[in-house]
Amino acid sequence: MKGRMRSVIAIAMTLVLIFGITFSYGDIDDMKDKLAEGEQQEKELASQINSLQDQVANLENRISSTEKKISKLSAQLEKEKAKLEEREEELGKRLRTMYKNGSVGFIDVLLSSENVSELLSNLQLIQYIYSNDEEAVAFLQDQYDSTKKKTEELKTLKADLDEEKGKLDHKESQLAAKKSKVSAANKALEKKIDEELAASESLIGYGGSGGGSYGGGQFAWPTPGYYNITSQFGYRIHPILGYKKFHAGIDIGAPSGVRVVAAASGTVVLASWYGGLGNCVMINHGGGLSTVYGHNSSLTVSVGQSVRKGQTIARVGSTGNSTGPHCHFEVHSGGALVNPLNYL
Ligand SMILES: [Zn+2]
Repeated sequence: MKGRMRSVIAIAMTLVLIFGITFSYGDIDDMKDKLAEGEQQEKELASQINSLQDQVANLENRISSTEKKISKLSAQLEKEKAKLEEREEELGKRLRTMYKNGSVGFIDVLLSSENVSELLSNLQLIQYIYSNDEEAVAFLQDQYDSTKKKTEELKTLKADLDEEKGKLDHKESQLAAKKSKVSAANKALEKKIDEELAASESLIGYGGSGGGSYGGGQFAWPTPGYYNITSQFGYRIHPILGYKKFHAGIDIGAPSGVRVVAAASGTVVLASWYGGLGNCVMINHGGGLSTVYGHNSSLTVSVGQSVRKGQTIARVGSTGNSTGPHCHFEVHSGGALVNPLNYL
């Protein structure tokens, strides 16, 4: 009766464990999907900003070339104005002189002409001089007017270009603000995913207690012949995001298939897939001390089995949340994570 009760509890605990992890992993997958979406959005915003910047640069070129044309035309306009004024003054002067001298004035011509034909020819001469001067002034005036019109058209064009550029600048700053918002959200999500992964990678509180007592002494190295620690126990600074991340054990780099051995004698309490740790073994050594071996390619022990120190329990692999073959090794003491190097 007592035994049956115990196995019911064990099954219940296993179910809680499995569903707990499944749920937690579903959450992480959702977050990863959301992050991928966010990153895609960030990329699209960046490319929109890029194309806006191209358009702005193009407008700036047009604005500066228009400015150059305007200043050139303005100089030309000044010259033409001066010429026109000069010619107008000359004309006025000539008229005044003619009037003063009375040499070829209309009345003089009329009075001094001997006969009608002389009068007519003198009048033609006056008309000729007048029309010649007037034509020259009119020509200069036309030239001046057309240059002025061109200048004004260019000024209008420049104002339009300035307005367009202002709009694009505004749009660009809006997109940049949106992008920095999305980017901040992505970073926060990435941090959360990392934290969740770190939490899911640890077996803290699982099967740590139990009967028996630990015999003491130094642990056997989990991967005989391979001693390169690729990641230490404890907090480390995320190289890109700059925040602290907790590592529950040490990672020992070793090729796939290398044997993983029990660090000390004890009882296997977990020999199955465990979330981020992939194919995982946990051994209870008694006295509140247990060890965890993660990311294995295969397991060679099963739950309830007694193992001796140095006995092969699994093969190195890269299952679960892993970027390459290694052994993730944890030591739990009294339900807390401790630095495995204190025992090795
Ligand atoms: Zn690890």
